[in-house]
Amino acid sequence: MDVRAQVSMMFHLDKCIGCHTCSVACKNIWTDREGTEYMWWNNVETKPGTGYPTKWEDQDKYKGGWQPKGKTIKLKVAENKSNTFANIFHQPHLPTIDDYYEPWTYKYGDLFDAKAGDDQPTARPVSLITGKNIDINAGPNWDDDLSGSSVYAKNDPNLTEEEKQALFEIERLTMFYLPRICNHCLNPACVASCPSGALYKRGEDGIVLLDQNTCRGWRFCISGCPYKKTYYNWKTGKSEKCILCFPRIESGQAPACFHSCVGRIRYLGVVLYDADKIEATASAPENELVDLQREMILDPHDPEVIAAAEKSGVPFSMVEAAQKSPVYKFVKKWKLALPLHPEFRTLPMLFYIPPLLPVLGRMEDGVYNVDSEDYFTSLDKARLPMRYMANLFTAGNEEQVRLVLEKLLTVRTYKRAEEVGDMDSAQLKAMFEKTGLTPELCEEIYRLTSLPTFEDRFVIPPTHREYVAELTMEDAYTFKAEIGFGGFKTVRLERGA
Ligand code: SF4
Ligand code: SF4
Repeated sequence: MDVRAQVSMMFHLDKCIGCHTCSVACKNIWTDREGTEYMWWNNVETKPGTGYPTKWEDQDKYKGGWQPKGKTIKLKVAENKSNTFANIFHQPHLPTIDDYYEPWTYKYGDLFDAKAGDDQPTARPVSLITGKNIDINAGPNWDDDLSGSSVYAKNDPNLTEEEKQALFEIERLTMFYLPRICNHCLNPACVASCPSGALYKRGEDGIVLLDQNTCRGWRFCISGCPYKKTYYNWKTGKSEKCILCFPRIESGQAPACFHSCVGRIRYLGVVLYDADKIEATASAPENELVDLQREMILDPHDPEVIAAAEKSGVPFSMVEAAQKSPVYKFVKKWKLALPLHPEFRTLPMLFYIPPLLPVLGRMEDGVYNVDSEDYFTSLDKARLPMRYMANLFTAGNEEQVRLVLEKLLTVRTYKRAEEVGDMDSAQLKAMFEKTGLTPELCEEIYRLTSLPTFEDRFVIPPTHREYVAELTMEDAYTFKAEIGFGGFKTVRLERGA
């Protein structure tokens, strides 16, 4: 057992109100510079929808992530090694500026300086890249709030044809918000695909960073990341990505997008995992990916795990942080949070609680029934098809996503029974039996979901730069040699000062 510590994240999607405060907080701090205008290290998408960059989930188009090859896995972008060298100067699978959008501003000066004339002066849009006038026909949130409509959502790669038909009946239109940042993956395709070894995973907390001095602008990380969370700075000629606000974390503060989140949907904490299992987990059959990724996460209270953590050089204060971690509870203890697109096989360390809403109950003969035959009134009559949710969060395994939603519904039903008292006790008992939840567990889940304090949501690990040099990630990343030129080193250790 090779125990490592990872700063991990959980987003509760039922609580996201789509306000974009997180995106703006991030942009103001990190990407408010020339060359970064189109970068949104944090963005919030409306689902169903095509997202940002457009259709980022379509790996036939972008060739991101890993694919099984024999008993192991290979980078999709490096399918053919001879092509890799040819593609180093031109990669056919990169998103174009049209897949993002051409950033623009307005000629505000014209409003004041225009000569007197018959018409009101206007502020025309101009490109922030070329400085020329442009017609705006795309933006980072172009389909915001409109994804329930057939115009945008029909291009969502996760929807089947049948679902599109059903979903766009007017009375079934629906949507939810999906905030996205870099997942700081355990098997990061961005790290493995960089020919210069510019990307690395920090030994002490697993944050994935991109060294600006080493980056040569090959842009393989952009093709390699299936979540499209690295970006090319056209001004500096280097790539950039989310740094999980590591300077804030190191000084005991939550990342800006977490701190500013209006819906309080975000949770952050340490998880301990077994790095020996990375290769086997990432190479597993699709329907086992979620369970195996959960199994990699270790119980921080287990004496054997604590001893192994000490042996691997993980400081005890990290173990203590893992014991208090809200992410551990949601992901491992309660099995409520799921990774986004586990089939990309990067082992993402950002987990989501899929949205239960808009499932509602219905009053029938004075009893609140959560399993009625009407629209919106049971899991199966919910407007978001189960298959669609499974395509997003469980590599198509509908049972896994259904169990999570059943648990959420049980917690809600239990609280309604307690507060309002109009529930059928036999229905509630059956829900407990089916989900394995108890009143005590429901209360715990309810408290951490609805009434958490700042300290409950963010258990920020102490900084231990002094231990960094002793940790080695070399053994853990066996896939790192995919397309390294001039040697097989793409994962580097950052040495402590
Ligand atoms: S999401 Fe994963 S693969 Fe993409 S940039 Fe982040 S760590 Fe790399
Ligand atoms: S700030 Fe929070 S609630 Fe608002 S869009 Fe971002 S994740 Fe959702």
